Amino acid sequence: MCAKVLVVEDEKALSQLLCYNLGKEGFEVATSFDVEEAILAVDEEQPDIVLLDWMLPGVSGVEICRRLRARSETRDIPVIMLTARGEEEDRIRGLEQGADDYVTKPFSMSELVARVRALLRRTRPTIAGDVATFADIVLDRETCRVRRGARDVHLGPTEFRLLDVLMQRPGRVFSREQLLDRVWGHDVYVEIRTVDVHIGRLRKALNRRGEHDPIRTVRSSGYALDETYSGQ
Ligand code: CA
Repeated sequence: MCAKVLVVEDEKALSQLLCYNLGKEGFEVATSFDVEEAILAVDEEQPDIVLLDWMLPGVSGVEICRRLRARSETRDIPVIMLTARGEEEDRIRGLEQGADDYVTKPFSMSELVARVRALLRRTRPTIAGDVATFADIVLDRETCRVRRGARDVHLGPTEFRLLDVLMQRPGRVFSREQLLDRVWGHDVYVEIRTVDVHIGRLRKALNRRGEHDPIRTVRSSGYALDETYSGQ
């Protein structure tokens, strides 16, 4: 599963432990340590799921949850609250404010990872499953194979990742920077136009003559899978 998790937790040691364990499980992880940072990180990192500590300096986690739910861009991001024992009332308030699930500290990492996976399967089936489909395109993450209609599409590893990212959110426009981040990773220096080169290769492999191009170029913004495309 290559989903991105935002960890909002002010306890550095716990934050590091979460990063390490989620990273080991194949998740991409971003961290923030307070409310303002978290709100910015949600916009910048566009996480697939947020792990939200309840007790943060200044404002409680429930406030972040409330703010996320108040905006259409962030309304659907699944949230798991991290709460301490004896905070039943807070937990109920958190769930009322739109948190999807909670785990009580101290928790085991395997329990947490299982909860993250379960919530992603429920809320983001296009990310969590082994197989993603969009119109007549099928991408199998386990075998790393792609088919369009009845034929196999042969993709290099970068084009495969690129298509995988686009298929996780059909219709959503990804900027070149966001694609660089998600496909090549944060720490790698790659020129921005490299994205265009690989989109070109991906199109060439996906589209036979006369076939509809499922990738939409959004002028000065980036790329998206074409929502209106039904595979006909
Ligand atoms: Ca805390």
